[in-house]
Amino acid sequence: MLGTLPSTVLLLITALGLCIGSFLNVVAWRYPRQESVVQPRSHCPDCGTRLAWSENIPVLSWVLLRGRCRHCQSPISLRYPAVELLCGGLFLAAALGYPEALGQAPGGLILVAGWCLVSLLLPLVLIDLDQLWLPEPLCRTGVLVGFVFTLLAVFSQSGGPEPQLLLWHLLAASAGLLGFEATSAAGQTLLGKPALGLGDAKLAALLGAWLGLTGLGLSVALAVLSGAIFGLIGLLSGRLKRGQPFPFGPFLAAAGLAVWMAGNSFWLQQLSRHLGWSAL
Ligand SMILES: [Zn+2]
Repeated sequence: MLGTLPSTVLLLITALGLCIGSFLNVVAWRYPRQESVVQPRSHCPDCGTRLAWSENIPVLSWVLLRGRCRHCQSPISLRYPAVELLCGGLFLAAALGYPEALGQAPGGLILVAGWCLVSLLLPLVLIDLDQLWLPEPLCRTGVLVGFVFTLLAVFSQSGGPEPQLLLWHLLAASAGLLGFEATSAAGQTLLGKPALGLGDAKLAALLGAWLGLTGLGLSVALAVLSGAIFGLIGLLSGRLKRGQPFPFGPFLAAAGLAVWMAGNSFWLQQLSRHLGWSAL
């Protein structure tokens, strides 16, 4: 998106992503427990010892401590450095990708928007994996931030303001919310249990606000496809039981990020090539 960037800039972007990832780990742990995300400083959940700055360096501290608390030796989950690495990679991908959701807005705006989208979706995914729950206030904030970036993009298009961009994103957010709620209600009627959590409707609204109608449609298609493959593999390998619920949020979020990073045209091309969806 930003053309060729010097490797020092790429390194700095990755480092920023690692640090934000470290913060998002804290958010995902504390938010469901209704703890402040800034106070107190990071501490070991087992012995309560506050971490020195040298124990708080993303990835590196975990490696140097060999995945154990220095004070009580209780293991520190591999998830922490994994999330930090993932966030670093996604920050880099946002800089190297080809987002189309904000049209011809300036590259800097699209880059910051991409980083914000990653920072919203990562804690939502982690909380959904931990608790099968997508917190509504966080989703609502995500929808609002998406509209703010869309509005900024409307007035900074290289070819002059494009108000229809905001309209598409408003429509997409409503379509995401209503479409998923309707599906959930239909599941309730037909199967006697909700086919989807209502949190998924809020996450779909969030993706609509950021990606617009086409982007949302592509994300839902990718999420359903990857969710179905995951479910099938889970059933065949015996890791999932029939009817056992698994969170759909991570599939939606991952699909949304994939659509943001690679752009609508790329996925439309892939779908028409592999599935013959030329009608799109
Ligand atoms: Zn400890």
